Amino acid sequence: MSSDVIIVGGGVIGCTAAYALAWAGFTVTEIEREQMGGQVAVVNTGMLGPYTEIKHPPAFAAFAERSFAQWPSLAESLYEETGLDLELVRSGLLQVALTDEEGARLQQAAAHFPAAAGAHWLDTASARELEPALAPTVRGALRLPTEAHVNNQRLMRALLLAGGRRGVRYVTGAPVHAVELDGAAATVLVGAERLSAARVVLAAGSWTGALAATLGLHLPTVPVRGQLVNVRGEHRPVEHILYTENGYCLAKRDGTLVLGGTMERVGYRSTPTAGGVRDILARTSELLPGLADLTFAGAVAGLRPHLPDDAPAIGALPGAEQVVVATGHFRNGVLLAPATAASVVALVEGRSAPPGLALFDPARFARASEAGRSTSVYPETV
Ligand SMILES: Cc1cc2nc3c(=O)[nH]c(=O)nc-3n(C[C@H](O)[C@H](O)[C@H](O)COP(=O)(O)OP(=O)(O)OC[C@H]3O[C@@H](n4cnc5c(N)ncnc54)[C@H](O)[C@@H]3O)c2cc1C
Repeated sequence: MSSDVIIVGGGVIGCTAAYALAWAGFTVTEIEREQMGGQVAVVNTGMLGPYTEIKHPPAFAAFAERSFAQWPSLAESLYEETGLDLELVRSGLLQVALTDEEGARLQQAAAHFPAAAGAHWLDTASARELEPALAPTVRGALRLPTEAHVNNQRLMRALLLAGGRRGVRYVTGAPVHAVELDGAAATVLVGAERLSAARVVLAAGSWTGALAATLGLHLPTVPVRGQLVNVRGEHRPVEHILYTENGYCLAKRDGTLVLGGTMERVGYRSTPTAGGVRDILARTSELLPGLADLTFAGAVAGLRPHLPDDAPAIGALPGAEQVVVATGHFRNGVLLAPATAASVVALVEGRSAPPGLALFDPARFARASEAGRSTSVYPETV
C-alpha cells in the first residue's frame, strides 16, 4: 500500500507530524526501528517552558511561543478524538536562586522577558508561601506564571490512537538504512524492501544525521543523554515547576515528582547511572530538603537530539523538496512539536515556509562546517 508521505522515526516529532499530516488529508506511513514512542515514551518531564528555555535568537523564541500557543488546541483535539486527557497543567514555574549572586542575576533578567511571560521576582518568604516545601535557604525566585507541563506518555498514546483512526499506518521494528531521491519522489530502504512516496520526512531524532548522510547532507545530530529520577510521597509536594541552573523538579498529576536532569555526551548509551542519580538527588535536595523521605520510584534516561547551535533543523533538503527534515529539538521536542508539525505540513503541501523557518535550514551545517562554527550555550553536567 503506498502513501503520500513516509515519516522515518516514531518519536514525538514524527508522531505529531503524522497526526497533523493525516488531519490535513494526506495518507501517511510512519516507520520506526523499535517501538513507537521514542524518548518521550520513557522520559516524562513534558515541560512546556518557552520563556525559561528559549530566549535567543528572537526568531527561535517566537517559534517556541507559537508552538506553546498551539498546545491547548492540540490537547483539546486529541481529547475529542481519543478521550485521553493529556494532563496539560499551567502550573507556572519558579526559577529559584540558591545564592545571592543567582538572585541578582535573575532579578536583572526579569526585565528582559516579554510581557506575556508575566515574569516577576519573589523574595524568599513569598516564594515559600507559594511553595512551602522549598528550602528556607533559597534566596528568592523568579516566577513565570504561564509555563506548563503535559503527561508525555498520555500524549504519545493519544497521538498514536488519533493518528491510527485517521489512517496513519505504523510500521515498527523496521530500521531504515538509507534514503534515495527517486525523480520527483523519494525511496526509503528498509532491509530488502524499498518504499517510495512523494514526500519523505526524516524525524529520527539523534540518528537523523546518519540518514541525512545517505543523501549527502551534513547534519551533525548528536545525542545528549538526560537522566531523570522519579520519587513519590503521600501528598503532592510542589505545584510549580521548580527550576535552577542545575536541575528541575515538577509534580505530575498522579503525585510522581520528576527530578532532572543531567546533560551528558556519552554517545548512544541511554541507561541511567548511579552517578547520574546521585548528582540529581544532590542538586534537587538543595531545593527541597524533604526529598529524602519520599519513595524512590526509579530512574530513566533518554537521548536529546542536539545540533551544534542548539536549534532544530526543520526544512526541505537543499534542491530536493521531496525530503523534509525535522530534528534537533534537543531539550524542547515536546514544547516544539505542534509548531514543528505545522511547519512539516506546510512544507509537504509546498506552501511558503512559515515565518522564522530560515533559521532552521537543515543545510546550515554544510555551510558552517566550512567556517568551523560550533556555538552551544548549554553547560554539560555529570
Ligand atoms: C531527560 C530528558 C528530559 C526532557 N525534558 C523535556 C521537557 O521537559 N520538555 C520538552 O519539550 N522536551 C524535553 N526533552 C527533549 C525531548 O524528549 C526530545 O527533544 C524529543 O524526545 C525528541 O523527539 P524526536 O521525535 O525528535 O526524537 P526521538 O524521540 O529520539 O525519536 C526518534 C525515533 O526515530 C527512531 N529511529 C532512529 N533511526 C531510525 C531509523 N534508521 N529507522 C527507523 N527509525 C529510526 C528511533 O528509534 C526513535 O524512536 C527531554 C529529554 C530528556 C532526555
